[in-house]
Amino acid sequence: MSSPPPGPALLGYHEATALVAAHAAELRRVPPPVEIVELAQAVGRILACPLAADRDQPPFARSTRDGFACRAAEASTHKPLAVAGATRAGLAPAGPLLPGTAWEIMTGAPIPSGADAVVMLEHVQAADGRVRLLPPRTVEPGENIVARGAQARAADEMLPAGTAIHSAQIALAASCGHATLPVYARPRVAILTTGDELVPVASSPAGGQIRNSNGPMLAAMVAAAGGDPWVLPTAADTPQALDAALAQALEADLLLITGGVSAGKFDLVEPALARIGARFHFTGLRIQPGKPLVFGELPTSGATSVQNENGTKCIQPGKPLVFGELPTSGATSVQNENGTKCNENGTKCFFGLPGNPVSSAVTFLLFAAPILAALAGSREPAPRFALAQMAPSPVDRGGKPGLTRFLPAFCTFSSLDGQLPQVAFVPWQGSGDLTALARSNCFLVVPEDAHSLPPGSIVRILLP
Ligand code: AMP
Ligand code: MG
Repeated sequence: MSSPPPGPALLGYHEATALVAAHAAELRRVPPPVEIVELAQAVGRILACPLAADRDQPPFARSTRDGFACRAAEASTHKPLAVAGATRAGLAPAGPLLPGTAWEIMTGAPIPSGADAVVMLEHVQAADGRVRLLPPRTVEPGENIVARGAQARAADEMLPAGTAIHSAQIALAASCGHATLPVYARPRVAILTTGDELVPVASSPAGGQIRNSNGPMLAAMVAAAGGDPWVLPTAADTPQALDAALAQALEADLLLITGGVSAGKFDLVEPALARIGARFHFTGLRIQPGKPLVFGELPTSGATSVQNENGTKCIQPGKPLVFGELPTSGATSVQNENGTKCNENGTKCFFGLPGNPVSSAVTFLLFAAPILAALAGSREPAPRFALAQMAPSPVDRGGKPGLTRFLPAFCTFSSLDGQLPQVAFVPWQGSGDLTALARSNCFLVVPEDAHSLPPGSIVRILLP
């Protein structure tokens, strides 16, 4: 009961990836608008300006141990040194350290001038105000000290614009005194589900109806990828309903439409897109799941206005040298009349994702996520792949020839020392199998020409 292989006209996975990457690169030439947010609200956002050090990091030579600051050459003779004083974290640097003396010091405290090493508390004998490094141990100059400015010099760039802000970046910003951060505005992503059979999550489906699961799924995926999801009411499978819904969706920065892009009698999305002037880059790919995927551009309503970079230049929050500026040379911010972002040629991208949930998820990750990352100003590559090793797993029953496949799989990342992550197929009933999708944590990439993926072989996985 296998269907014929797809025609040669369909693009393969690699060609489609290159095409989408070229569009993403074009979108990246235009930096998104900038907002200032409280530091605590910046998690998950994209840094809009380089983050520079406000002062040397660390701001003073600091001890990495509890112990005694000393001159390495003196301590290494193993002669007792008189303890001349003590500095704990938070105190000003002491010194100068006189010859023949040591200085008690705590982790994070500034090194007294004249000292060039710290001997650890555990490595000394201390009694009667004197301390001696226990032989045969010796100490080298610089040991247990982080020099002033070792991590960054004042005004050095520590993070480039486009960095995704997680807990570590928040900590670094806090250490440089930023109560607020400039971040790129999130692109607004319209999510338009289509299909007469769909009812909202809270409704009880009548016979033949199903709940709309793609809407909530894609909203979660868009938010995780740095977009601002805008879930529209589901459109019925009629030209009138689709025309009205698309007219509304055009207000977004990116359009994701699900369902209605296959070859069925009620798959009316492509003609509706064509009616509003869509240019199709591809309508179908040699992949599984996700073969019916559609990608293209729509003309944006009205005239476009091209602002120069001053319109979106980052705001200096009152601290000189802390933030750089967005590049000004030739960079332009392009918006259409209603303020949404569009390409320099005044178009905006859309994807017609297949309605089947696994197909929607896979095609979003592979193709919509890179476009969304570009619109969001993120430097992080999308999609993300990793290598893993095939575990003994239920046999994949094979698929249609000539298709690159992305099959729901579960990868165990906590594998034994020296062992690659182990990945196994999740048994699935095809691209409508939401249970398999929810039981998976990655997709196993089966290349077009792969006949089998034997246990132990090294394979690529697509990460969510
Ligand atoms: P289509 O791409 O419209 O032919 O739909 C393919 C399959 O996906 C059909 O079984 C649809 O019922 C299902 N489907 C379409 N849209 C959704 C949705 N939003 N949520 C869940 N399933 C969907
Ligand atoms: Mg449909």
